[in-house]
Amino acid sequence: MLPEAVLEQAKAEMLDWRGSGMSVMEMSHRGKEFVSIAEQAEADLRELLAIPANYKVLFLQGGASSQFAMVPINLLRGKNKADYLNLGQWSKKAISEAKKFCQVNVVASAEAVNFTTVPSRDSWKCDPEAAYLHCTPNETIGGVEMHTIPEIDVPLVADMSSTLLSRPLDVSKFGVIYAGAQKNIGPAGLTIVIVREDLIGQTIAGAPTMLDYAVMVKDGSMYNTPPTYAWYIAGLVFQWIKAQGGLTAMGAHNKAKAELLYKAIDESGFYKNPVDPAYRSWMNVPFILPDAALDKPFLAEAKTVGLLTLAGHRSVGGMRASIYNAMPMAGVKALVDFMADFQKRHG
Ligand SMILES: *Cc1c(COP(=O)(O)O)cnc(C)c1O
Repeated sequence: MLPEAVLEQAKAEMLDWRGSGMSVMEMSHRGKEFVSIAEQAEADLRELLAIPANYKVLFLQGGASSQFAMVPINLLRGKNKADYLNLGQWSKKAISEAKKFCQVNVVASAEAVNFTTVPSRDSWKCDPEAAYLHCTPNETIGGVEMHTIPEIDVPLVADMSSTLLSRPLDVSKFGVIYAGAQKNIGPAGLTIVIVREDLIGQTIAGAPTMLDYAVMVKDGSMYNTPPTYAWYIAGLVFQWIKAQGGLTAMGAHNKAKAELLYKAIDESGFYKNPVDPAYRSWMNVPFILPDAALDKPFLAEAKTVGLLTLAGHRSVGGMRASIYNAMPMAGVKALVDFMADFQKRHG
């Protein structure tokens, strides 16, 4: 979901961006109009996350999935080992890609308990020779979220595709943060990367130009044509978040939405969420019905009251409510009311 105000603004500016006579889609990425859009977006993102000056911000293509390769290519820096925390489906994809470049040490895995928790920090078996530790703080499919940033001795790399900008974040604790924009930031096609300066410029031999952070930094994410329209919409979203009161306000709002939904699930005696309450995601709330035969009627009836895209990921089934930043409290209330009503009729 994107904020309606953002879509309205994009609509109003669609044919003629602020008197330029051009749509943003028609601009040269090197023209002064688009450069001003790009710079404003970066400035707003830096302000929202209070990104320290020794971090670079990149607006790339290729999705979070390209970062699964770009991270080892750039961060191994002469080493051949990396630590990975396995919290679910996205962690596993990052791990299998990293294995193409180095020895992967899985410090801990929640796979044995079907990814319903986060193994405690004391149980992690970190390799002292690892170049970095990669984690997925919010597992979008399983609905598991680490609510604190782990203390570790090597650069911490985080795939925050489904949680970046959902609450305040101490960027200085990370070496690299990356996120595909399409979950909580903007349209598909844009990937945000925040990388600490000292980690840039030591890519493995033969690294493709497009996968070298140093190249992307040097050219301001414009080595080639960047995803201009997605960058522009992300910029509108950053301004919208600022107008909502920034990430502190966003965090309070998101926490309240998640609490309402989990409470409704837990108290229903009908719906179930399998995740350890200490690690439940604020963004992605999976739940199952007592009988999978009810899934189809649930989805069909939900659609008639305007509640869409509630089917769980194809790999796990059941339901999943993704309640990203743009989802208003009223949307969660509507879901909770519908769930109670459905239970009355089918419970
Ligand atoms: C969706 C998602 C991805 C994949 O993102 P793409 O941009 O489609 O490559 C990776 N990691 C997480 C945590 C995700 O939620």
